[in-house]
Amino acid sequence: MKIMKFGGTSVGRPERMAQVAQLITADNEPKIVVLSALSGTTNALVEISNALAAYKRDEAKQLIDKLEAHYHAFVKDLVKQDASVAKATAIVHEHFEFLNIILKISFSDALNKDILAQGELLSTKLFCVFLAEIGIDHALLPALEFMSIDMNDEPQVPVISAKLKDALAQHAGKSLFITQGYICRNARGEVDNLKRGGSDYSASLIAAAVQASVCEIWTDIDGMHNNDPRVCKKTVPVEQLSFEEAAELAYFGAKILHPASIWPAQHYNVPVKLLNTMEPAAKGTLIVEEAGSTGVKAVAAKDGIYAINIRSSRMLLAYGFLRKIFEVFEKYRTSIDMITTSEVAVSVTIDNATHLAEILKELEPFGTVEVEDNQTIVSVVGNEIAETKDVLMKLFDSLKDIPVRMVSYGGSRHNVSLLLPSAHKTTTLQALNSGLFGLE
Ligand code: ASP
Ligand code: MG
Repeated sequence: MKIMKFGGTSVGRPERMAQVAQLITADNEPKIVVLSALSGTTNALVEISNALAAYKRDEAKQLIDKLEAHYHAFVKDLVKQDASVAKATAIVHEHFEFLNIILKISFSDALNKDILAQGELLSTKLFCVFLAEIGIDHALLPALEFMSIDMNDEPQVPVISAKLKDALAQHAGKSLFITQGYICRNARGEVDNLKRGGSDYSASLIAAAVQASVCEIWTDIDGMHNNDPRVCKKTVPVEQLSFEEAAELAYFGAKILHPASIWPAQHYNVPVKLLNTMEPAAKGTLIVEEAGSTGVKAVAAKDGIYAINIRSSRMLLAYGFLRKIFEVFEKYRTSIDMITTSEVAVSVTIDNATHLAEILKELEPFGTVEVEDNQTIVSVVGNEIAETKDVLMKLFDSLKDIPVRMVSYGGSRHNVSLLLPSAHKTTTLQALNSGLFGLE
């Protein structure tokens, strides 16, 4: 069985949905197709939720109406036969009626999750109407019946696997299944989600749960590129990455794949392929256990980083000091990305400033604490990169004019990370593109 996941832009227009239908019927292997919401929908639902949370009902109503109009126009171009139009229109009505009812209920976190779930419910149901119209046999597998997270909001593959097998068993004889990405049930049985961009994670969890032959992630770019295509003129797709390389790249900013989606595939050893809906014949990127080659593969950047520097001539010599510092971050469930230390100071970076004020207050007794915001982590990734000496030479040579604030090297053999002010990101990525890859 294989898993094929299509992102928002791949289903965002009626003609794209038609293309997806072609791609999923190109071979006879049984498959589970995971869909995101139509592009723009989840953002719109977030806006609706925010308006409701702020008691701006009129604004929420306007946003709901605007989104509903978008869906009616979508349906008009998606299906042709009267019966299909009626069916699709009824689906749109049903979900927007739900949103309109929500307008009258007092807002809560659980309700917020219900609102956010509408996008994937709509995209999958409409896609199924389209498949039925063009005569493609299939079954809709409601993700809320099998995708679950535990009390710590963590998905457990064995649990998902058991539920998914039950769901599949209800459709004997079928070999094409459509399901929602992103949405799940939490430990309280409520509708929940796997966080923004979570459809990739859904696909990888499902792939692990059924021990799929491959987990294909279809987007609108031909694989993971060696550098950010929005910043550098010339970038090239990377043909093969190891799970570890891919995890570093996804975590440190390569937008193409949700970082959490690596572990299920890696743990259950399911190859992941990143493919392009607009160019299905392109090779894309294959992610497997083996790296394929050594040396530098790609560069990624992650913005919105805070650097926290703690200086103390007295404390740093003492053992247990780092533990005490880490405990503060642990207490506020804030994860640390980069760390550098010297004899008198330690610097760490975080990307989540929700509890920054409390963290800073609790760090005060340890020494002088300084924070800098608007920082960017630039991560250079490649199998055994740390052992490839000319890479390091070229790397630091390329950075001559960049005020690098932190360097992390040696934590993993596949990664060198740099921290710099975000204002220098563009020049850094461009300098590395020419310095490391010989590209413009
Ligand atoms: N629709 C969700 C989002 O926009 C999940 C996804 O597309 O992966 O975040
Ligand atoms: Mg995505």
